[in-house]
Amino acid sequence: MKLQEKLNLKSVINASGKMTILGVSKVSDGVALAQKEAGQTFFEMADLVKKTGLYIAELLEVENATVVSSASAGIALSIAGVIGQGSSYHVTHPSTSKIKRREIVLPKGHNVNYGTGVEVMVGLGGGQIVEAGWANECTPEQVEMEINENTAALLYIKSHHSVQKSMLTVSEMADIAHEYDLPLIVDAAAEEDLFAFTKMGADIVIYSGAKALEAPSSALVIGKNPYIPWIQMQNYGIGRAMKIGKDNIIGAVTALEEYLENGSESGESMVGRLAPFVQALNEISGLVAKQVQDSAGREIYRASLQVLSDKISAKEVIARLKQGDVAIYTREYQANNGIIEFDIRMVNKEEMKRIVEKMREIMEG
Ligand SMILES: *Cc1c(COP(=O)(O)O)cnc(C)c1O
Repeated sequence: MKLQEKLNLKSVINASGKMTILGVSKVSDGVALAQKEAGQTFFEMADLVKKTGLYIAELLEVENATVVSSASAGIALSIAGVIGQGSSYHVTHPSTSKIKRREIVLPKGHNVNYGTGVEVMVGLGGGQIVEAGWANECTPEQVEMEINENTAALLYIKSHHSVQKSMLTVSEMADIAHEYDLPLIVDAAAEEDLFAFTKMGADIVIYSGAKALEAPSSALVIGKNPYIPWIQMQNYGIGRAMKIGKDNIIGAVTALEEYLENGSESGESMVGRLAPFVQALNEISGLVAKQVQDSAGREIYRASLQVLSDKISAKEVIARLKQGDVAIYTREYQANNGIIEFDIRMVNKEEMKRIVEKMREIMEG
């Protein structure tokens, strides 16, 4: 509360999920304490990067890993790594070195905007996007068609942002990559399963720290050698502009340990917490609420609210929710269809009550 008063900031109820625009997630006391200790200590930083990577790799049953500043940085650094292939000349001359193998093949329906474009981060790493298939379809054959002597890697964006239908699987993409002796990079930024994609054959997998893990700003890049060391080399090149602090590296490791021990909230628990919320929303006139599962099939359950009023549209309701001394943020992706979604992972009982009160005030005046 002190920060809000000192800087004149609004209080926020976050029913939108782990969103960058609201600061993503909150760290636990254990993570905050580990960050404090690391922040007040000196390390040999190259050693810290290497050893925390190996520690994470053991926990996640992979060959190697490295903590970077964000999943976006993870994409850019992975691309730079697979293009440079361990060349230290390339690290310091990323755009002028004469390497021609810069093409990165990804399904067209995966070239999405998650806050910035996938293509922007690939470009930052010196890669050139080659889209395979159509906006709404990508088959293994369509990926193969785009591979040539200038292909540096295949890229797969495992996300609710991506097109889901008529899409080849991660395993199919990995099989193609290995048939052509190429690495497969999987951006699994918001995914909860830290084992699945390496098991499916991905060579490099990227997880955003602050999303599933509720770590401070960071990302885990996990996978095989020599790719991980190729990525770590970039810290002396473009990676310098994406430097992560020692406190956040240790925070990420600690959050990972807590996540592996406790997991995230179960689907069952979310369904249980949602029931009274959905019921209370249904008692407000002009609203029909129900429970829905995440569209990408993750174990996340949300309240989906249809606004059926000729006085106010879903978009206007969303705008009103953000007004007042406490701003309530929801998932807005389906507002065009009159639907508002509430993600309750970071909403407690008290906050749900406030949301219901505010909704009643908006709908019934
Ligand atoms: C959130 C997200 C990112 C970016 O993660 P940051 O850690 O915020 O950079 C990248 N890709 C996808 C699919 C995401 O959902």
